[in-house]
Amino acid sequence: MDTDVLIVGAGPTGLMLACQLARRGVRATIVDRHAGPARETRALGVQARTMEIYAQLGVVGRALELGKKGTGANIWARGKWMARLPLSDIGGGLTPYPYLFILGQDDNERILGERLRALGSDVAWNTELTGLAQHAEHVIATLKLPDGATREVRCAWVAGCDGAKSAVRELNGIGFPGAPYEHVFFVADVEATGGMKPDELNVYLWKDGFHLLFPMRGENHWRVVGILPEALKGKEVGFKDVEPSVRGEAGADLVFQGCSWFSTYRIHHRAATRFREGRCFLLGDAAHIHSPVGAQGMNTGLQDSYNLAWKLTLVVQGKSDARLLDSYDAERVPVAQRLLRTTDRAFRIIVSDSEGARLLRTQVLARIAAFAFRLRPVRRFAFGTISQTGIHYRESALSETKPGLLDRSPRAGDRFPWLKLKFSPGGPVEDSFQRLDDLNFHLLAFGQHVSAMHKHFQVHSIPEDPHNAKELARASIPAKSYYLLRPDGYVGLAGTKFESGAVERYLSTRMGLAS
Ligand SMILES: Cc1cc2nc3c(=O)[nH]c(=O)nc-3n(C[C@H](O)[C@H](O)[C@H](O)COP(=O)(O)OP(=O)(O)OC[C@H]3O[C@@H](n4cnc5c(N)ncnc54)[C@H](O)[C@@H]3O)c2cc1C
Repeated sequence: MDTDVLIVGAGPTGLMLACQLARRGVRATIVDRHAGPARETRALGVQARTMEIYAQLGVVGRALELGKKGTGANIWARGKWMARLPLSDIGGGLTPYPYLFILGQDDNERILGERLRALGSDVAWNTELTGLAQHAEHVIATLKLPDGATREVRCAWVAGCDGAKSAVRELNGIGFPGAPYEHVFFVADVEATGGMKPDELNVYLWKDGFHLLFPMRGENHWRVVGILPEALKGKEVGFKDVEPSVRGEAGADLVFQGCSWFSTYRIHHRAATRFREGRCFLLGDAAHIHSPVGAQGMNTGLQDSYNLAWKLTLVVQGKSDARLLDSYDAERVPVAQRLLRTTDRAFRIIVSDSEGARLLRTQVLARIAAFAFRLRPVRRFAFGTISQTGIHYRESALSETKPGLLDRSPRAGDRFPWLKLKFSPGGPVEDSFQRLDDLNFHLLAFGQHVSAMHKHFQVHSIPEDPHNAKELARASIPAKSYYLLRPDGYVGLAGTKFESGAVERYLSTRMGLAS
């Protein structure tokens, strides 16, 4: 083999997969047809689940240095300030990153690229995938090299992280059903002053649509997103052309000093009919695209990579049966389909031309949002959904919950909650996300002692202690229970009384791990 995994595309999805494979010691090659990293900001919202993964990857400090915490969202309707939704601690207690984080896609790609180089790998730019031939034991990929010559590369697996027009998807004949929305959107990075609340998200709702102003790094730097006015559709336009409509709806006192990037785009909502064909996988925009409502796109691609990386590692290293890889498609297709449904519903309300939707936008939405945000369950539900910490794989073949747990306890398929625990009697209180790395399986045993010697997982027998008891009660974890965590932090197996045989059976039958 020339390489074990060929990663096609060095956007955020491909870079994340390359980093995850490199740190696990898997031989991977990453190629991109462009000459270098994209310069456009595009995605801006980094969700808490992504920040958790960045922490495991050792880049969260760099992200915090370059980005901004979104402390609140201000809703304006017909030019009047209506409500502020506090966001700085909306997910308090659920994650070390309980806010929406604002960091441009270009910075995310820079951080991931730096990490990849530190791990001893790099992107082969100006290198395009043009052909694929699948065989029983390998794939032959045809690459067009920077000098125009072609080269055939023999690899065990191909990861299509090559965006919405994915060659990997098309060469495999995988459908991408869906449709474009009729509206055309614009996006602009500007320098501006005005009545908007500084350093916070400002949402301007008006009868024909919306304008969003996101604070960006640097003084008076804002990202403006909106619907292109009907009269400008189909024309060559620049920011100067949309400025009157933004000023008209978002405030006449807005003064724009400059615009560093302007683009218009049509949004589609589509999902690939399957995310795997033989030895080829689809991840990120190659697998699913949808409206930018909720800032989910880039984050979902990063989670696709995180889901696939540890599974590919076990298979490439000969520790697991290749059947483990079936769970990538089985776990990630439902996530993408749910995302398409929810973003589509939210988006239609925001852009609908119907009289009811106009009234909802300008008269009702801000009031409902402000009221609902005062209710803790609503805040928590909204945070779990948007931050992607609430995503679960309960239906997956890799998830097994034994009888005896409480209905409200974390179950197999859930992201194991963030806890502060004493891991040894009389020891310090530790952050579970820092203590448990993402390169191994971990067994957490509560209220029982488990011998520390196991081939496939690290054991943590958590001592009985008043601090731990309080923390377990907070997370609805029974005092006597055990949780086997997969490397990506999801619960694989959960039960009350630990039995070594049950865990071994789970690992061999469900994970395909050789005993
Ligand atoms: C205006 C805008 C705003 C957005 N806002 C948000 C947001 O706030 N939050 C969010 O989460 N998402 C947002 N998104 C979506 C986000 O930008 C995408 O989801 C994200 O870029 C997907 O990353 P990716 O790596 O999967 O694909 P891409 O970023 O498209 O990367 C694909 C890469 O593959 C390469 N490639 C393609 N074909 C080949 C080939 N044949 N051979 C080799 N290389 C190839 C391309 O050159 C490219 O570098 C936004 C998108 C837009 C357009």
